[in-house]
Amino acid sequence: MTIQENYIQVKNQIPEAVQLVAVSKTHPVEKIRQIYDAGQKIFGENKVQELLSKYENLPSDIEWHLIGHLQTNKVKYIAPFIHTIQSVDSEKLLAEINKQAQLHGRTITVLLQIKIAEEDTKFGMTFEDCDALLEKLAQGDFPHVAIRGLMGMASFVEDETQIEREFTTLKKYFDQKKKDHPLQYLSMGMSGDYPLAISCGSNSVRIGSAIFGERNYTK
Ligand SMILES: *Cc1c(COP(=O)(O)O)cnc(C)c1O
Repeated sequence: MTIQENYIQVKNQIPEAVQLVAVSKTHPVEKIRQIYDAGQKIFGENKVQELLSKYENLPSDIEWHLIGHLQTNKVKYIAPFIHTIQSVDSEKLLAEINKQAQLHGRTITVLLQIKIAEEDTKFGMTFEDCDALLEKLAQGDFPHVAIRGLMGMASFVEDETQIEREFTTLKKYFDQKKKDHPLQYLSMGMSGDYPLAISCGSNSVRIGSAIFGERNYTK
């Protein structure tokens, strides 16, 4: 199958109301353009340097999402154009995003990343830290940041009941917080687990290899 055929197949498996972020990390500009030409406008990258070179070489109507761990000192490079930062995992990072957005006369959309995986390799905040940050956002402490949702990554395990438990825990928290905060997106699900994530309530999925094929990190 071509990557465009992969893309159509993934699109057909996702309900209309679920946002698709095509995760293009490690893949070249030419491949991204093929998916763009097939109609995709939202792409996700996890490294600032790589994102910058792709941003410069691809159409300007692409909505770029940063989905990987972001160091505070690198926010300034992406602040002029980034649409959404899905991986906000500390108040320090949020404050820097707010500052850089203000410098560029912009508002940057953010999702707060919560650690739901039981394994300890993933970034993300605890529910308690997230509670505190949502309160500060509601008080208007970060006027150049638009909080729009939550992001979580499940454990990389075979055990579907564990993955389902992790997704469901985040969905419950999301529903509870949505009552008082402007949370629209619940970003859960990748190539290996997106049907399960959607059935657990995700409305935004981040899909890389199911569209672009396996990543080759040695290149
Ligand atoms: C790489 C990555 C994805 C996509 O992974 P696939 O398994 O290739 O779909 C999704 N979310 C995050 C945060 C990632 O780093």
